[in-house]
Amino acid sequence: MDDSLQKSIFEHEKIGLDVDSIKQSLANCLTYSVGKDTITATDRDRFFAAAYLVRNRLIDRWMDTMRSYYINDVKRVYYFSLEFLMGRTLMNSVHNLGFDQQFREALNELGINLDNVREIEPDAALGNGGLGRLAACFLDSMATLDLPGYGYGIRYEYGMFAQRIEDGRQVEHPDNWLRYGNPWEFPRPEVLYQVKFHGRVVQYPDEKGVAHYHWIDTDDVMAMAFDTPIPGYGTHTVNNMRLWSAKATRDFELHYFNEGNYVKAVEDKNASENLSKVLYPDDTTTMGRELRLKQQYFFVCASLHDILYRYNKYRSNFDALPDKVAIQLNDTHPAIAIAELMRILVDLHHLDWEKAWDITTRTFAYTNHTLMPEALETWTVALFENVLPRHLQIIYEINRRFLKDVMHRYPGDTGIVRRMSIIDEGGEKRIRMAHLAIIGSHKVNGVAQIHTELMKQTIFSDFDRFFPGKIINITNGITPRRWLNQANRRLADLITSRIGSGWVKDLSQLKRLIPLADDASFRREFAAVKRGDKERLVALLKQKLNIDVSADSLFDVQIKRIHEYKRQLLNVLHVVTLYNRIRNNPDAKYVSRTVIFGGKAAPGYVKAKLIIKLINDIADIVNNDPQASRHLKVVFMPNYDVSAAEEMIPAADLSEQISTAGTEASGTGNMKLALNGALTIGTLDGANIEIGGEVGEDNIFIFGLTAAQVAETKAKGYQPWDFYHANPELRAALDMIGSGFFSPEEPDRFKPIVDTLLQHGDQYLLLADYASYMDCQKKVEVAYQDEEEWVRKAILNVANMSKFSSDRTIMQYASQIWDAEPLTARSMGAEIG
Ligand SMILES: *Cc1c(COP(=O)(O)O)cnc(C)c1O
Repeated sequence: MDDSLQKSIFEHEKIGLDVDSIKQSLANCLTYSVGKDTITATDRDRFFAAAYLVRNRLIDRWMDTMRSYYINDVKRVYYFSLEFLMGRTLMNSVHNLGFDQQFREALNELGINLDNVREIEPDAALGNGGLGRLAACFLDSMATLDLPGYGYGIRYEYGMFAQRIEDGRQVEHPDNWLRYGNPWEFPRPEVLYQVKFHGRVVQYPDEKGVAHYHWIDTDDVMAMAFDTPIPGYGTHTVNNMRLWSAKATRDFELHYFNEGNYVKAVEDKNASENLSKVLYPDDTTTMGRELRLKQQYFFVCASLHDILYRYNKYRSNFDALPDKVAIQLNDTHPAIAIAELMRILVDLHHLDWEKAWDITTRTFAYTNHTLMPEALETWTVALFENVLPRHLQIIYEINRRFLKDVMHRYPGDTGIVRRMSIIDEGGEKRIRMAHLAIIGSHKVNGVAQIHTELMKQTIFSDFDRFFPGKIINITNGITPRRWLNQANRRLADLITSRIGSGWVKDLSQLKRLIPLADDASFRREFAAVKRGDKERLVALLKQKLNIDVSADSLFDVQIKRIHEYKRQLLNVLHVVTLYNRIRNNPDAKYVSRTVIFGGKAAPGYVKAKLIIKLINDIADIVNNDPQASRHLKVVFMPNYDVSAAEEMIPAADLSEQISTAGTEASGTGNMKLALNGALTIGTLDGANIEIGGEVGEDNIFIFGLTAAQVAETKAKGYQPWDFYHANPELRAALDMIGSGFFSPEEPDRFKPIVDTLLQHGDQYLLLADYASYMDCQKKVEVAYQDEEEWVRKAILNVANMSKFSSDRTIMQYASQIWDAEPLTARSMGAEIG
């Protein structure tokens, strides 16, 4: 065949976004990539064929993007994160490439059921919750804004566990998401870096008497790259996410094989490859496990070497590093990068310490995600010395120099030296990773206004005084592509029919919906969309859980990790109180509710798991009570993940954001729900405050103590018993839970829960906020009964959510931290032969 003809057919087949090209590609991919005939193809085969055809449409854009970054020698942003909670990719890519309609039509014409096919794809669940999902939203925004942004992380073989509910309890199942292969990743066996562990450090002087350090006798593991394209919406830009997988070193194998100990060799190979085996499923607690520290260093080391390899293609010294590289640390999990970059510059490239430190601090920035002490990472010095002996020395040297400056600033103040030191000397010596991250970064950001203020006033107040202006706020956001345009097509289409589709890339355009809140026909259409979404969830609950709920009821939704500070228990106390009211007065009028919970508990978090069991036991009793169940249903939706969120969020009327004020750094679930027209019932915590500021106080339900009042209450000596005695409904609810009303076969089952509240101080002030929460829920019911008014409020929520686009968040990072600029990639095929 004529070469150019073959090329043009190939090109057409490869990139065409019209229905015919898609049909042709699907057939080709099924045959030539999956290796199946249409007769024998399963839905999984059809999913893979669809994934390959979509992927083929990303590749040219991806290459063009990488090439144009290279040619233009742009400043690159590297987002370092131990978690990326990506969810499914197929429809996200189709949407971002903008051929949704043609894709559906093509599959339809081929007689393929798109719903069956897209549900084959497992979620990429390489994250726990909000922090990992934030990283995923940021990648989407960076690509959409044409920013040269790269994600760097770990390719866990097992992601977040799958949650099943058996006899009302959480049972964890391994998430073997790679079992059938991952069509979105490209293995790069040639991109391989050696990562060292353990061993010892030897020091010797060079001819000038300057000390040099060698890290020797190490156990080594190789890091191998896997790349995943990240398409922006409505742009040619396709960025890259590079995840590392652990491989045994060849040396290592040969050593043992030569000794003839074949089995031992294979065993040890497995041991080193365990490094990237599993995601730690703990949200907001740290366990101090050696393997976790090794995971952190493993990916940081490989990523930094990779970044410097890219940087050095152009340069022979490191002077321009901060002008060409910005590294954002997503929490302290990758903070060891600061010591690793110092090691590379000082030990391997022999830069002066001062020069290396200047480069390092201008390169890194750190995002803090929590103020809760149990979530602040520390490692024992003993563990560090064993796993990363040279890094321990470097951290000590960073600390020595830093504390010298502190002492110079505050002569004689030993208290401040103790408080600001990277080493916590009270008890067994520990390394405070947050202190390392702050000292080694040029900017530190909190994730919502209140969170940043508390950070500056409480845990990092010494640092805020010492480094004025270093700590800044950048409020979190969510990508409107996944969380509205893709998750809620019906609402997206309605919005687009009125204001055009510009909002998808520029969420501020949603403001144009504000006048439509007063338009009765728009309200009717909006209500019909919500109704349809609720009916879809009703059908799903019937199908998955065989539970009957009514789309007429108020859908009251709390979906997030199960944690005491998030106060699912406060919601439970409300449910039990409603139940008692109905039982005590069955003939009164009630606003019927369906209270829906979803969320995973960390496998070792006994109390959180007991809360799941309590919700399910209550659901059993309430849903089977012929009187109560007419007005109240309780549902626990198993296995809350990104895909479940996409199904549930569009159907919510009420969004529960009820953490104790001062504990939830930002929250992003609150943003997703409000963007989909749910009204928030919440405390003045995290981004709830800013959501209230945008939508207006008439369109949000705020209750409870403020963060200042929480602190004050605790300082005065909080007495949960006082609230117990003063409030008969509260007392009744607690007594029932504690005495086995919901667990007659085991009356003491939930006593530990009640004891936490009454005997052990109710750390999260549920009892103090109970009455206010009940009153607020009453206001919700009153508002819900005025349907027109409720829909008006819901529309005003959607219309005023523009601030919470992760595009706004990323633009702030780019200007206030990274000093990075967009580069619009174009098709480069013509210029570069
Ligand atoms: C958004 C999201 C979260 C975070 O929810 P919060 O309510 O902010 O805690 C957790 N898990 C998943 C799957 C999410 O999509």
